[in-house]
Formats: sequence, C-alpha cells, structure tokens
Amino acid sequence: MRARVEAELVIEREGWAVDRVRRVTERLQAALPDDERFETIVIASQHHTAFTAPGRTIYVARHMLDLLPDDAAAAFVIAHELAHHHLGHLIGRYVHGLPFFEATLPQHERERHADLHAIELCIAAGYDPDRCILALQILDAMVLHCGDLEGSLGNPLDPHGEVARRGYFPTLQRIAHVQAHVPAYRTGARIINTLAAERDAASRRRMKKALKIAGSIVATAALLLLRRR
Ligand SMILES: [Zn+2]
Repeated sequence: MRARVEAELVIEREGWAVDRVRRVTERLQAALPDDERFETIVIASQHHTAFTAPGRTIYVARHMLDLLPDDAAAAFVIAHELAHHHLGHLIGRYVHGLPFFEATLPQHERERHADLHAIELCIAAGYDPDRCILALQILDAMVLHCGDLEGSLGNPLDPHGEVARRGYFPTLQRIAHVQAHVPAYRTGARIINTLAAERDAASRRRMKKALKIAGSIVATAALLLLRRR
C-alpha cells in the first residue's frame, strides 16, 4: 500500500508539516515499544484528509494540516488513524481487538470508537482535549463549506439511514460524542474495555443460544429413542 501511495502521490519529505506529524506521532506513541509504533507521512492529495491501511503508516494530507492550528489538533487526526489499528479494524501487527467482532460492527460505529479512542490517546499524551477537538470543528467547517448540510447536522427525515450510508455520524454529533467522552475518560472509562465487555456479553448470548439448540437436539434424540423402544 505504502509503495502504491508513494508511486501515485507526492510525499512531502521536509518542512514544518513533516516536523509536526513526526513530533505528534512520537508523542502519541511514547509509551509503546518500537515494534508497535506507526509512522505518519504527509501526502499532497485533494481527495483525502487522512487515512491508514494495513501496514505501519498513517497518511495525512497537507491541505488538512494547513487548516489545523497546532500540534493538539493534528494529534487528534493522527490518533484517530492510530485508533483504527489499536481497535483491530485493520489487519496488522497491532491488533488489540478481535477483528471478527469488529468486522460485524457497522462502519459508523467503528468510526465513533476510533474518535473516542483518539481523544483517549491525546489526553494520555498530555494534549488539551479542547484543542484536539478543534480538528473535528474544522472538519465541520469544511463540510459546511462544501454545502453538505446533512454531513454536519444529519438528516432529520432519515437520521439512521443517513449515518449508515455515510459510514460516519454527522460532524456535530461526532464532536458531541468526543466531548462527552472527556469527563468519562477522566473517571476511568476506556472504549477498549467497553468493547471487551460488549464482546463478552455477545459471546455469552451466542453460547446460551447454542446450548438451547443443543438441548433441544438432545431432547429430540431422547424422544426418538423412547419412541423406538
Ligand atoms: Zn476513521
């Protein structure tokens, strides 16, 4: 993937934007061993803001970085991409979640989880969460600038359908979700723990259902045996 991106897009190799993403990526991962770390590179692309893929690289577009006022805002964008890896949304070395469970979740839920884990990573790295959330507020301004009212506010006629089609909550809702997670984080909430609890509850439900089916098979078999006597 990285070779393809490097062949097709212009990569910035030096300058303030490269320095910023290097500094921020390092700070966000300061507590991680070297072999679990990712690298961020700056690309010249009008079609993307930021993205990642299986592998060890995060891509952030220069035009996005131009709009972000400081390291904290850039940190949120990079942390969101890191979060997709940490939460097991992509095949790679760094998989904390169970990909099977994650694969069954709708895209907009995975994006919401990535936003929540991103703000956790930012706070843990010592960034001011309000400065980090500026990244989403700037994204909201970009969305509105393009005339995409539903992208910002949602679609009142079909709110769930709109979210599912886009794969994202409207930007104003994304901001609200992340803002609400800041005090929750401070009292110990972690999205990875919430997801692990949901995963356990889901597997308990599956187990119960399987036992019920197994139970009725045993009962039917017993009945057949009785009849044959
Ligand atoms: Zn994402």
